[in-house]
Amino acid sequence: MRQLIAGNWKMYGSCASAVALAQGVAAGAGDAACDLLVCPPFPHLSAVATVLRDTPVALGGQDCHQAPQGAHTGDIAAPMLRDVGATHVILGHSERRQNHGEIDEVVREKTEAALRVGLTPIVCVGETDAQRQSGQETEQVGWQLAGSLPQGFAAQGVARGAGCAIAYEPCWAIGTGRTPTLEEVAAMHAFIREELVRQFGAAGHGIRILYGGSVKPGNARELLAVPHVGGALVGGASLNPADFLAIAAAARDLGDEVRTPGPWG
Ligand code: PEP
Repeated sequence: MRQLIAGNWKMYGSCASAVALAQGVAAGAGDAACDLLVCPPFPHLSAVATVLRDTPVALGGQDCHQAPQGAHTGDIAAPMLRDVGATHVILGHSERRQNHGEIDEVVREKTEAALRVGLTPIVCVGETDAQRQSGQETEQVGWQLAGSLPQGFAAQGVARGAGCAIAYEPCWAIGTGRTPTLEEVAAMHAFIREELVRQFGAAGHGIRILYGGSVKPGNARELLAVPHVGGALVGGASLNPADFLAIAAAARDLGDEVRTPGPWG
């Protein structure tokens, strides 16, 4: 299985700049030894989909509603993402958990909605600075995994070729330039792997676990080399095609590593 390098473009740019960014990523995608995904703001999805057609770069949304349709002003349904050509969706990002009050139960419902229409959910988990300072990081991530993932999450993912993923993103590392130590990343990814196997049995070995939080060209290689790191969710550095492609260049083919516990798992 190849690592997945996913770009979260958040609420940045114009339609023209999104098109240019997608063109830049697509131009270098042929050289990448990993899977590539970009997640533009909703209004830019269609234009970016046109650019990415017939390229190896996949398209994703940054959120979706749990209902397939309805009176939900300002929201986007999972079938709408499929309709514009998206194959993935980021769910439960800490900015949505913090700014939109998304609790685990809502993230789980959204994940179910995504899986129902064949979108690959990337479910984000991660502790706050205070939780890490008080030694509660694994407890917090464990609760989030237990609450945010629906039954059948792993089975559906495995059935569709690793079609589901977790992103471990410590809140305090997002957009701050701070990252956990490699040992901390290794310990958390091993813990997440254990939890996935506990929740889903052997199928839990087939779920990619991305690392996210201040991934840059300068630290990508060491982060992506940590056991159980199945790729990266990249915010700021994904807004520059050269940086995003440099991170992609640091990715590798995991072989069967994702399915086989490493030294920590
Ligand atoms: C993110 O928003 O998911 C993220 C990881 O951001 P950054 O890379 O900027 O820390």
